Amino acid sequence: MMNYRKDLENMPSYDGTEKYYRIKINANESTMNLPPLVEERVLTRLSRIAFNRYPNEEYSALVEQIARNFSVSESQILLGGGSSEIIEKVFFAFGGAGKKVVFPQPSFSMYKIYAKAAESEPVPFDLDEKFDLDTDKFIKKIRDVKADLAVVCNPNNPTGNFLSVDRVEEIAKSIDCAFLLDEAYIEFYGKSGVNLVAKYPNLIVARTFSKAYGLASARVGYMIAQPEVTRMIDKTFMPYHMNVLSLATADIVYQMRDEFVPRIQMTIAERQRMSGRLQAIPGIEIFPSKTNFILIRLDKAEELKNYLESKSIGIRYFSPDAPGLKNCLRISMGNREENDEVFAEIKNFSEGLK
Ligand SMILES: *Cc1c(COP(=O)(O)O)cnc(C)c1O
Repeated sequence: MMNYRKDLENMPSYDGTEKYYRIKINANESTMNLPPLVEERVLTRLSRIAFNRYPNEEYSALVEQIARNFSVSESQILLGGGSSEIIEKVFFAFGGAGKKVVFPQPSFSMYKIYAKAAESEPVPFDLDEKFDLDTDKFIKKIRDVKADLAVVCNPNNPTGNFLSVDRVEEIAKSIDCAFLLDEAYIEFYGKSGVNLVAKYPNLIVARTFSKAYGLASARVGYMIAQPEVTRMIDKTFMPYHMNVLSLATADIVYQMRDEFVPRIQMTIAERQRMSGRLQAIPGIEIFPSKTNFILIRLDKAEELKNYLESKSIGIRYFSPDAPGLKNCLRISMGNREENDEVFAEIKNFSEGLK
């Protein structure tokens, strides 16, 4: 008899299987591979790997670089296999039977799954009709349910909107449970809560190399918190959980992060250009975004998704039962040509409806 863990059968799974798309704008990845100069340095670095050794030095080297950039101590940084692993471990560290995790909804769909994986209770808190977070009510909710962990994604995926650093601070200061701030898209917004870590021992900031730094393949993320917090969360990781290929690659990417600034700016400019153009199409509602994607809403969302798929354009459609996201589609920014084509097809589709 194979006795699986309790409730494993009922665990929702994240469907990562995908078709090939000519224009792939469904996963908020960077549309471009590494800048050629960075790629060259990465390949040179990879030719000097000590494959026979556990990657202690490479782990420390990346931690040291990140710590220096944020002027924090190395004991305040942990690396993970994508920020996904960081988030999972934070849920694990503060979760368990009878524990509660409060997070806004709609937001990153994985929060609910990680809460359940840690056998804790997910407590979603609804955003308002403009997808804004009422921070006072959110704080009240966290206190009322006696939450053990609160999570906020800023700017938020999939809605694209943001909280000011002041409002993030308001939350950090008003709750005493752990507070995870997921900054997966922060490079497209620019106003990080990292500096609040010195002041608030409950604050944990998660970052990733997967979005602005175009390194989704390598699975590298990190977190910043006070040393006592990282000491505890570190216990939840396996020894040597980061592999040397990813560490060495991320190390070069981080050293050369200035090379990514022009493309981050290009993505922001494209987001603004696309938002403006899409706004002119009747029947499509555009939500303001500070990320590398745009959320739209229209009555025929599923039909539009199917139409774009027929043109080999893959965008993110949310199932009708995803709370708050009925008829919504998320469009990641491609390059200018890709975006032009996406826009033209959306326009074709909407004109065909008349
Ligand atoms: C993409 C994403 C992540 C994590 O991505 P990794 O590739 O695991 O670093 C985390 N949070 C949000 C909200 C995301 O959109």
